[in-house]
Amino acid sequence: MKILFYDTKNYDKRSFDATLQKFPGIEIEYIKSDLDPRTATMAEGFDAVCAFVSSNVGAETLTILHEKKVGLVLMRCAGFNNVALEKAKEYGIRIMRVPGYSPEAVAEHAMALALASNRRLYKAYNKVRENDFSLSGLMGFNFYQKTAGIIGTGKIGAAMCRICRGFGMRVIAYDVYQNESLRDFVEYVSLEELLAQSDVISLHCPLMDSTYHMINIDTIKQMKDGVILVNTSRGALVKTADLIEGIRMHKFAGVGLDVYEEETNNVFEDRSDEILEHSTTARLLSFPNVMITSHQGFFTREALEAIAETSLQNAMDYQAGKESPNDVK
Ligand code: NAD
Repeated sequence: MKILFYDTKNYDKRSFDATLQKFPGIEIEYIKSDLDPRTATMAEGFDAVCAFVSSNVGAETLTILHEKKVGLVLMRCAGFNNVALEKAKEYGIRIMRVPGYSPEAVAEHAMALALASNRRLYKAYNKVRENDFSLSGLMGFNFYQKTAGIIGTGKIGAAMCRICRGFGMRVIAYDVYQNESLRDFVEYVSLEELLAQSDVISLHCPLMDSTYHMINIDTIKQMKDGVILVNTSRGALVKTADLIEGIRMHKFAGVGLDVYEEETNNVFEDRSDEILEHSTTARLLSFPNVMITSHQGFFTREALEAIAETSLQNAMDYQAGKESPNDVK
C-alpha cells in the first residue's frame, strides 16, 4: 500500500519511519507541500494520502483525489473540521483520524499557557536576560482555590479538569454531554454560569457550526474581570475581533492561544507589511498580556509516536476492509 504524506516536517518523517518497521507492506513517500487542490494531483498512483490540520481537504481537493483513485485520507490529527465530509461520502473516500493520541500533551500545554500568562513568564524571561530584576508588571494570582471553567470535557478537557484539580482549584464544566469519569470532582453548569464564575477558562470542544465564535463580545462580557482565557482547541471558537475588543476593555488578566483564526493563511510565513497590517493575530500579539504559541499542544515525543502508530494501524484496517472507531463519518 502506497501513502503520499503531505506537509512533511522532519519530526513527522522520523516518527513515521521508526514506526513503519512494524507495518511491512506500507510504503510512504514524503513531500513538503501541503494538501490542496493543486497538490492533490500528485497523488496519482497512491492508495492513500496523509494530511494534517493545516491541509485543505475541501470539496475540490476530494474531487481530484477521487479522480486519482485515492480511497483513503489519513488525518494524522484529532480534528477534522477541514474535511468536506459530505463530499468524501459521495465519492466513497474513507476518512480516518487519530482521536485522543495524547490528551495530556494538549492539556499540559493549556495549563502551561494559563500559568505563563498569569505570571507573565515571557516578560520575566526577557527582563532578566536584559539584567532587569525588578518585579514590575509581573504580579499574578494564585490558582489554588480559584475556579477553573472547562468548556468541552472529552479526552483533552477531562485531562485539563484533572490537572486543575491537582492545583487545588474548584473545577466547573460545560459540555453538551457529561463525562461520567469526572463526576467526583467536576460540577457541570450552564455556559452562562461557567462564564460568570470562572477565573480561568479553557476551551476544549471541537470546531463545529454550533461552537463557531462561541467566544464573542456577548460571552466575553459575561466573564469575570481579570479572567484568564486559554484556547488550545481551534482558532475559530473565538471571534478574534471581539477578543481584541475584550482585551481593550481590560477584561482579561491574560490570554493564552495555541490556535488562532488565521492559522491556515500563512500569515507569519508571508510577513509582508500589508498582510501583517490586516492580521488580527499580529494585533493580538501587540498586547502585553497575550501569549501565542504556534499550534504546538500536541507536540510531545509520546504524542508523535502515538500518531504514527494509530495512523499506520488505520491504513492497515483500511486495507483489510475493517471498520474502525477512527473512521470519521
Ligand atoms: P473529544 O471529542 O474527546 O471531546 C470534545 C468534547 O467537546 C466532547 O465531550 C463534546 O461533547 C464536547 N462538545 C461538543 N460540542 C460542544 C458544545 N457546543 N459545547 C461544549 N462542548 C461541546 O475531543 P478531544 O480529543 O478532547 O479534542 C478537543 C479538541 O482539541 C479537538 O476538536 C481539536 O480541535 C483540539 N486539539 C488541539 C490540539 C493542539 O495541538 N492544540 C491537538 C489535538 C486536538
